[in-house]
Amino acid sequence: MKTVENLVNHILETEVLVIGGGSAGCYAAIGASLRGVKVLMVDKGKVGYSGCSPFAAGAINVCLPEDNHEDWFEEIVTRGEYLNDQTWVKIQLDEGWQRVNEIREWGKKYGQKVLEEDANGRIVRRKARGNINTLTAIIHARPMMDTLRKKVIESGVQLLERIMVTHLFKYQGQIVGALGLHCRTAEIYLIKARSVVLAAGGCGFKSLFIGHNNLTGEAQYMAYRAGATLRNLDQAMSNSTSRDADIHGLSLMVGSGGRFLNGQGEEFMFRYDPKVGSRARLTKLVIGMAKEVEAGRGPIYLDLTKVGPDDQQMLRKVLPEGFRAFERMGVDPFGQALEWVPAFEGTLVHGGGIHIDTNCASNVPGLFSAGDTTCTPEHGTWSLTGLNLTFCFVSGYQAGLASAEYSKKAVPIPPGWGELESQITENVAELLAPLRRPLNITSDQIVYHILAVLIPYRVAYLRNETRLCDALNKIITLNREEIPQVSARDPHELVKAFEVRSMGAIAEMILRSVLFRQESRGFVYREDYPLTDNVNWLKWVMLGRNEQGIRVWSESFPTPYFDPPREKYIPR
Ligand SMILES: Cc1cc2nc3c(=O)[nH]c(=O)nc-3n(C[C@H](O)[C@H](O)[C@H](O)COP(=O)(O)OP(=O)(O)OC[C@H]3O[C@@H](n4cnc5c(N)ncnc54)[C@H](O)[C@@H]3O)c2cc1C
Repeated sequence: MKTVENLVNHILETEVLVIGGGSAGCYAAIGASLRGVKVLMVDKGKVGYSGCSPFAAGAINVCLPEDNHEDWFEEIVTRGEYLNDQTWVKIQLDEGWQRVNEIREWGKKYGQKVLEEDANGRIVRRKARGNINTLTAIIHARPMMDTLRKKVIESGVQLLERIMVTHLFKYQGQIVGALGLHCRTAEIYLIKARSVVLAAGGCGFKSLFIGHNNLTGEAQYMAYRAGATLRNLDQAMSNSTSRDADIHGLSLMVGSGGRFLNGQGEEFMFRYDPKVGSRARLTKLVIGMAKEVEAGRGPIYLDLTKVGPDDQQMLRKVLPEGFRAFERMGVDPFGQALEWVPAFEGTLVHGGGIHIDTNCASNVPGLFSAGDTTCTPEHGTWSLTGLNLTFCFVSGYQAGLASAEYSKKAVPIPPGWGELESQITENVAELLAPLRRPLNITSDQIVYHILAVLIPYRVAYLRNETRLCDALNKIITLNREEIPQVSARDPHELVKAFEVRSMGAIAEMILRSVLFRQESRGFVYREDYPLTDNVNWLKWVMLGRNEQGIRVWSESFPTPYFDPPREKYIPR
């Protein structure tokens, strides 16, 4: 039998292992290093340049010291359709500004302008998507990530880049490390750690939206396999974008006078959200778009022709990638309406993930999580755009502190490998298996199949039990029969082969979770259960693993600060 040392190419050891180097992971690494422990951060791409964070479209919702906390709290919870973890909402309101302001200050030190300020140094804010009594500030994502990368390095964190982490391993019931694959060389890395923070984003299914391509859900999948409980996957989410290019930044666009029009030229969103119309939150927007098309009033357009010159300039500055795409297309976005479509984002941004407590701990000892990998507990269904980045900072910092404290008292891994040897042997064999298979099904074919099942309007937006069951059966077949046959010829294809495995698993989890919720709320619109049901469904949809596979159940949750109305109503 091969020994562990012969199975892997590199063995590393750390106290805290942070997996994922987006905004949440960077903050976790900074937080953990403040506690004086050794921190290693591993990223599939390049820390600060990969994942969603560098593409974040400028909207940040943070309660400033002079704001009324109660207004913020009520707006977040009512817009989140009451599924928010209210304690997390409170933590985010209490700590958000401290985190945002410290990045702003670090940025100044590194010569980066992170927040948009006026000539007097006041934070520029406006009503953007979803805001009624609150305001959205403007953050520059590239300088934000440059700042975080520099701060991580300055904090003494060791970086390991281009490594896709694929498996967690456990000793005496605790997480004690992870296994990863170098994306270019296929060398295998074994990392022993006393605690682990998963901050590797969610699963974007390689769909239309920018920033998704390497976010394929490994973190959520490996947490599930290690026994972690997941939550909120019923709220797998969508944004929307131009039909012809990856364009993001919608929140600021509708906050600057952008409007959605249907094929008949009507500003139709007032039909679905009478209070804010085109500034409706995403849950209302994508379902509204689908209903208009279903009623024969498509296609849908985003009309920016009424955006004033100052706002045009601001949008160009905050959203450079989108405007480069318009340029490449030869389109002036302020001169004509643009055809606009929903873009499925899966478990990214919001959309469900690891169930965490207020210390960012999962139910598995030694496993912590932050940012998009979690169930994003502050959002509920989907509350205000721009809560995400604040949550990434706050949860990242908290996960860093808590994992560092945990690492100081964790059971040490004994010398030699003992009971870990068989786990590691199995995991390495699983990881390399596609290289040994005859050239057969490719990962690209699987991506196509998953998207073809998951994102049609009548499965992703306008749902009923028959269509959901049909989609679920197709995904189960794919997971059982096709994905185990995916082959790879080189390191690149090996990475893709593992990516589709987690994508298939997350697709199944999403469909099972949506089927479980028998009402309409947030991103779940069920034609067969069209009402929001606060009598029976003020519940979180939970998901975990048992001997039979995926288990889904619901749990009631505490509402300590705001009591939702116990009634049934048309989604509002
Ligand atoms: C186009 C776009 C616009 C957005 N606009 C806004 C906005 O205006 N305001 C707002 O608040 N939010 C916005 N969001 C959401 C926000 O960007 C995300 O919620 C946030 O950036 C998530 O940060 P994160 O650190 O959790 O994950 P990410 O930033 O996605 O980082 C995850 C990291 O993990 C790495 N990784 C992935 N898998 C593995 C693996 N297996 N092993 C090792 N590493 C791995 C990735 O390479 C990446 O570096 C937007 C998102 C997108 C896509």
